[in-house]
Amino acid sequence: MAGRILIVEDEAAIARFVELELRHEGYQVDKAEDGRAGLEQAMAGQYDLVLLDIMLPGLSGLEVLRRLRREKDTPVILLTARDTVMDKVSGLDMGADDYITKPFAIEELLARIRTALRKRPAKAPEPVLTLGPIAMDTARRQVRCNGQAVELTTREFDVLRLFLENPEIVLSRETFLSRVWGYDYVGETNVVDVYIRYLRGKLDAACGKSLIHTVRGVGYVLRED
Ligand code: CA
Repeated sequence: MAGRILIVEDEAAIARFVELELRHEGYQVDKAEDGRAGLEQAMAGQYDLVLLDIMLPGLSGLEVLRRLRREKDTPVILLTARDTVMDKVSGLDMGADDYITKPFAIEELLARIRTALRKRPAKAPEPVLTLGPIAMDTARRQVRCNGQAVELTTREFDVLRLFLENPEIVLSRETFLSRVWGYDYVGETNVVDVYIRYLRGKLDAACGKSLIHTVRGVGYVLRED
């Protein structure tokens, strides 16, 4: 599949023409006819690229772009009828990848789309952290031990993640407090002991052995003995 493209364009004839050409090139295409619908679709969908008209009813293309960029870095090519320096500059400043002035030759648009898609960073593989029988899928926030799911609270998950990112390294209570609870956490350091006790109980049960070890006077270490 060449990619999935959202066309946000209120001029139906242009939108239809571009849609047919893109489909012919093998792209999957969705369309929106005004700024608000375009923004909603761009936010909700998994698009490889957005073709965004500037002069739109509802929200202007530049406003759609501004709001989209708060959440997503989907490549955007602006379509503008006005060949004005201001539109180009503000569009590129706001994070557009490129722009094309109407009327355009479809070949030029297709070339710019290919370029924008090539620049798209390769999707990083979803990191899975492992140690011994433990496997943590950080994107899905799932933990398994020996293939068995381990249900963790958010805090327990974050504690285990810090362990897995620092295998076989002794971590102090203060390290957990600053990295998991945040630097401004004010409270007793024994909150760490409490959470590690919960976590250890769950892991021991699922893994069938102890992997979190107490290092007296120093802290804790995740290690497979
Ligand atoms: Ca328009």
